[in-house]
Amino acid sequence: MRPVRAMLLDAPGRKLREAEIRRPELRPGEVRIRVAACGVCRTDLHLRDGELTGAKLPLVLGHQVVGTVVEGDDPAGGGRVGVPWLGWTCSECRYCRSGRENLCDRALFTGYTLDGGYAEEIVADRRYCLPLPDGPADAELAPLLCAGLIGYRALRAAGDGERVGLYGFGAAAHIVAQLARQEGRRVLAFTRPGDEAAQSLARELGAVWAGAVGERPEKLDAAIIFAPAGELVPEALAAVARGGTVVCAGIHMSAIPTFPYELLWGERVLRSVANLTRDDGRELFRAVAEHPVQTTVETFPFAAAEQALDRLRDGAVRGAAVLTV
Ligand SMILES: [Zn+2]
Ligand SMILES: [Zn+2]
Repeated sequence: MRPVRAMLLDAPGRKLREAEIRRPELRPGEVRIRVAACGVCRTDLHLRDGELTGAKLPLVLGHQVVGTVVEGDDPAGGGRVGVPWLGWTCSECRYCRSGRENLCDRALFTGYTLDGGYAEEIVADRRYCLPLPDGPADAELAPLLCAGLIGYRALRAAGDGERVGLYGFGAAAHIVAQLARQEGRRVLAFTRPGDEAAQSLARELGAVWAGAVGERPEKLDAAIIFAPAGELVPEALAAVARGGTVVCAGIHMSAIPTFPYELLWGERVLRSVANLTRDDGRELFRAVAEHPVQTTVETFPFAAAEQALDRLRDGAVRGAAVLTV
């Protein structure tokens, strides 16, 4: 069989290289998908830079895949299909049996422990693929498959409070801001000082306030931290009102500095969200079908994955970065 062109990570810290990889045989329950677009996530950057370990190597990164099934039993019936981060779960462990497959003991993840979508084709377990709506362009849908999904899960974890602060206004936050606005909430966006591009995007998407981390324009009911900076945890705790929740939404964060107990006192809650469940996927795409969200994307040709990762590392991407294949 003809090999597949892919961008390959040989080892953490090395540049991705364009390579031809063996085209795998399908196993029962799998589908072969021709990739149209694949979002670039901060997790990909953590893997590329070695801040997140445990990946299969060599690895094809990418877990926000939009494409069409070319072989196997198509779960989308001819439409487009999305491949998200959650690639497989055991359905037997304590977590799987209690509706928390996102925490499965033996879960496999796309673009981490399974090959991902920085490639012409991907093979995926059909049960974990998400049928996608018609309408939006491939590149505009791609960020929903992680930034949107993790953002959605983080917003649910943040509770129903009205005043929601988003720390770090990139791919995930720019989607969450729209979901929160649709629910009638007040959105406040906290960015790096002087990041005018992110602040203006936040205001365009309905944030009532956008400014620098460290400012506290009003008390918050919840804060979601998307930036991987541990020092944001005590800052966000200080910004939420009594009974408020701080959600850490990233897979990796630098060490959290010590902070006085009074920041947690008053029944403030500090938690993380990890991965996604298939129900999260179905709920998000149902919500988006009712109230569409507009993603702002910067596209790169497939072979320019390194350039996309560089721009993400520099905080230069407005919205989400997406590779078109
Ligand atoms: Zn399990
Ligand atoms: Zn991701």
